[in-house]
Amino acid sequence: MTIQPQRIMVLKDGEPLEDKRYVLYWMQAAKRVSTNHALEYAVERANELDLPLVCVFGMTDAFPDGNARHYHFMVEGLAEVEKEMAKRHVRFVLRLGDPDAVALALSEHAALAICDRGYLKIEKLWRKRLADRIECPLIQIETEVVVPIETASPKHEYAARTLRPKVVRLRDEFMVPLKTRDLKRHGNRLELGDTLDLSDVAKLVASMKLDHSIGSVRRFRGGTAEAQKRLKAFLSGPFATYGEDRNHPEAGAASHMSPYLHFGQIAPLEIALAVRAARKGGDEDKAAYLEELLVRRELAINHVFYEERYDSYECLPDWCRKTLGEHEGDEREHVYTEKKLAAGETHDEYWNAAMREMRETGFMHNHMRMYWGKKIVEWSRSPQAAFKTALALNNRYFLDGRDANSFTNIAWLFGLHDRPWGRRPVFGSIRYLGPASLKKFDADAYVATVDKLAKAENAD
Ligand SMILES: Cc1cc2nc3c(=O)[nH]c(=O)nc-3n(C[C@H](O)[C@H](O)[C@H](O)COP(=O)(O)OP(=O)(O)OC[C@H]3O[C@@H](n4cnc5c(N)ncnc54)[C@H](O)[C@@H]3O)c2cc1C
Repeated sequence: MTIQPQRIMVLKDGEPLEDKRYVLYWMQAAKRVSTNHALEYAVERANELDLPLVCVFGMTDAFPDGNARHYHFMVEGLAEVEKEMAKRHVRFVLRLGDPDAVALALSEHAALAICDRGYLKIEKLWRKRLADRIECPLIQIETEVVVPIETASPKHEYAARTLRPKVVRLRDEFMVPLKTRDLKRHGNRLELGDTLDLSDVAKLVASMKLDHSIGSVRRFRGGTAEAQKRLKAFLSGPFATYGEDRNHPEAGAASHMSPYLHFGQIAPLEIALAVRAARKGGDEDKAAYLEELLVRRELAINHVFYEERYDSYECLPDWCRKTLGEHEGDEREHVYTEKKLAAGETHDEYWNAAMREMRETGFMHNHMRMYWGKKIVEWSRSPQAAFKTALALNNRYFLDGRDANSFTNIAWLFGLHDRPWGRRPVFGSIRYLGPASLKKFDADAYVATVDKLAKAENAD
């Protein structure tokens, strides 16, 4: 089937230009070849125009909060993209620079340009800047969500319960496999000038102007093949108890797909289809997983898409800021600086273990993320300071940080998408999580697991 029209948006109108050398796919959010609607659409259009296809990726070292950990993972994935594109006879070009400027330079010889869709402010800005300056038509294809974001809802949603029925109603229409198209005119040999050498990932990352104090992790290797391998192992193992065990950080019943989703190395559609077809899990496991992947994840995207202030405390609903403000002067038993928190130097050994998992391995289980974040609210001198600290740590250490999920879940700590609970000091009527949430699973087994993971990171 052709690409669903709800995924297509014309950013610059017009007829394809004549006497040009190729169709251009500017890859930005969807850094993959597998299940990529933008790529398949670009192949279709290149075939129609009887032109080869060029895929360009512009790598900036100025992405907010980016560091060597993030870039190492991303570049591992791009090395795979280059190889997979060559198999599809698409010429891949990687250059350093502002993504829109790199795409603009390559568009000089393009009859038509296609891009994927991103939802953060900077991603929207790059697309707008390119649309304002490019000569050929520019068409955006939405592939980072199962249900296109404006089709699911034309407005900022209040909570999961308000988005859920809309997504569930549309889900089957969009949960359909994407066919791979063959490219008629091969572009492998096109002369296009320089492209970065991807044969040595560490060397390339080391040459970039980045924060190198947060380095790569061994726990996660970037790339679509690795994501698919992990997904397969998850679905044939721990998925069988996902419904029951997903709130047990020590049980390992999590897919670890978030870093791959964040870097666009696997499509949410590919995951959703695999989950639906899984033989191991029952209906409860499938429903629980699709709730996270389709409702919670797309609710997070809905938030950053419709709320421009998503990276600041001001994005919180009025009732949250009001109740937190009323308790701003409450005495705090413990107050820690960002530095102390980052080092995992608090009185709470379980919290310190969570921080260690994050700092040293780039990941943390969802249940511990909630506990971790709620404690930052409790241990900061003000809710505004807590928001800043939690977001900074989240985006610095997590491989899946700087995502729509990052901003939205940090805001959730302060009441976004939640409801008022019983009033208490510091939190007001915002949901509190205390020691009881550590009793719901084997917290000591979790500490032992983190110890093992951290040792594996630091082994010779
Ligand atoms: C304080 C806090 C900070 C968080 N920061 C991030 C972040 O920076 N990046 C990030 O991707 N997620 C974040 N989350 C959401 C969630 O914790 C992770 O997506 C999840 O733990 C990733 O592990 P997984 O892929 O094994 O999840 P699984 O349990 O296997 O779930 C599958 C997928 O569903 C989605 N999902 C699961 N839980 C949530 C959720 N609560 N909200 C939205 N989508 C969800 C994710 O895309 C995830 O990959 C945060 C949650 C909290 C409470």
